[in-house]
Amino acid sequence: MARLVQKYGGTSVRDIERIRAVAKRVKSAVDAGNQVAVVVSAMAGVTSELAEYTAKISALCDAREYDVVVASGEQAVSGLLAMALQDLGVEARSWLGWQIPIVTDGAHGRARIDSIETAELECRLARGEVVVVAGFQGLGPDNRVTTLGRGGSDTTAVALAAALKADRCDIYTDVDGVYTTDPRIVAKARKLDKITFEEMLEMASVGAKVLHTRAAELAMKHGVRLQVVSSFDDAPGTLVVSEDEILEHELVSSVTYSRDEAKITLLRVADRPGVAAGILGPLADANINVDMIVQNVSAEGDATDLTFTVSEADLERAVSEIKNHREAIGYVDLIWDSNVVKVSVIGVGMRSHAGVARRMFDTLAEKGINIQVISTSEIKVSVLIEEAYTELAVRALHTAYGLDAQ
Ligand code: ADP
Ligand code: ASP
Ligand code: MG
Repeated sequence: MARLVQKYGGTSVRDIERIRAVAKRVKSAVDAGNQVAVVVSAMAGVTSELAEYTAKISALCDAREYDVVVASGEQAVSGLLAMALQDLGVEARSWLGWQIPIVTDGAHGRARIDSIETAELECRLARGEVVVVAGFQGLGPDNRVTTLGRGGSDTTAVALAAALKADRCDIYTDVDGVYTTDPRIVAKARKLDKITFEEMLEMASVGAKVLHTRAAELAMKHGVRLQVVSSFDDAPGTLVVSEDEILEHELVSSVTYSRDEAKITLLRVADRPGVAAGILGPLADANINVDMIVQNVSAEGDATDLTFTVSEADLERAVSEIKNHREAIGYVDLIWDSNVVKVSVIGVGMRSHAGVARRMFDTLAEKGINIQVISTSEIKVSVLIEEAYTELAVRALHTAYGLDAQ
C-alpha cells in the first residue's frame, strides 16, 4: 500500500467524459490498496476565460477579486470529480484551498504556499476516502482566497505530497512525459525517461509549461518522488530524480522557449554607479520581475544603453513605471518590443563541458538568426531572438545538440 498524490491538468478534466475517465483511474489506484489524494485543475480554457472576464470588467482589476474569480474553475471540477467517484462507489470528498486550509502568503495572483494543515486529510485518507483538492488556490493572511500563478495546480500537488509525506506525486497531463523540447512544435522531440530536479526547474523557469516552476522547486527541496505521465494512456512517464540517479548525463537535455517575453531599452542613460539600481528599483517595488539584462559599453564614456526583459504581461506597467521615474533615472529615449522569444538550452552536463554556448551561437548564425540578448546560468544558456524565428531556432538547436529522435 502506498500513499499517492495524483494531479490532473485542464485537458485531463476538459469535459464530463474525461472527468469520468479520471474517476476510473483514481478508482483503480484505490482498488489496488493505495491511499489517494487528487489535485485537480479547472477544465481546459476555463481559467483563461475567467481571467478575460476580469480584464473586461476593469483594466486595473483588484488582485483579490481576480483571485476569487479565477479560483472558481478548480472548485467546479473538484466537486464534479468527487461526484463521479461516488458514482463508481468510491468514498470521496472535495476540498477547496481555504477549507483545508492551504495557507499562503498575501501575494495575490502568484502566492506561495506557507503551510498545509493535514490532520483532517490524513484522517480521511486513513479510512480509505479519496480527498479531491482544488488546485491553484489557497488562503491568504487576510483570510481571502489566493491563487498561485498560472499553472499553479502542479505546485498544489507537490506541496500536498510533501505535507502528506506521499510515496509519489504523479502529474497526469496531455503528453506522456517530459520531452527534449515541446513535442507540439518539434516532431522529433524525444521523451526522457528521467530528468534531474535541477534541469526540470530550469526548464520550467524558462518556459516549458509541462511543470510549474515552483512545483519543480518544492519537489527538489523536499525530495518528492515526482512523475509526469499521460492521463490518456498507460505509457511510462518521466521520473524527476536527483542527479545521482542518472548515470550518463547528456550535454544538453532540452531546448525550451518562452514567447511571454518583452524587451525594454533605455537609450543613453548615464554611465555611472547606481544607474541600474535606479532603474530596477522602481520595477522591483512594483513587483515586476526583470529577467535578462545587458548594458552596452558607451562609446563616448558618458552615456550607455540598457536593455532588459520582463514578461509580456508586465510590459505596460514596466514602461509606465520607467516613464514615471524618468527624471530620477535620466534617459534620452525609451523603446520596447514584445515581438521577441527567449530560447534556452539546458543540461547539467554543461557544467563540465565548454563549447555549449558556442554551438548555440554558431547554429543560430547559420540560420541567419540575430541574437539580441544573452544570459547564462551554470546549466543553461538563453538567448532572446525575434519571435518569428521560434520554430526554426528550436528545431535547429534540437538537431545541433543531437536530441532528435531516430
Ligand atoms: P496541464 O493542463 O495538464 O497542466 P499543460 O498545458 O500545463 O498541461 O502542460 C502540458 C503541455 O506542456 C504539453 O501539452 C506541451 O505542449 C507543453 N510542453 C512544453 N514543453 C514541453 C516539454 N519539454 N515536454 C513536454 N511537454 C511540454
Ligand atoms: N487552472 C490554472 C491555470 O490554468 C492552474 C493550472 O491549470 O495549473 O493556470
Ligand atoms: Mg499545467
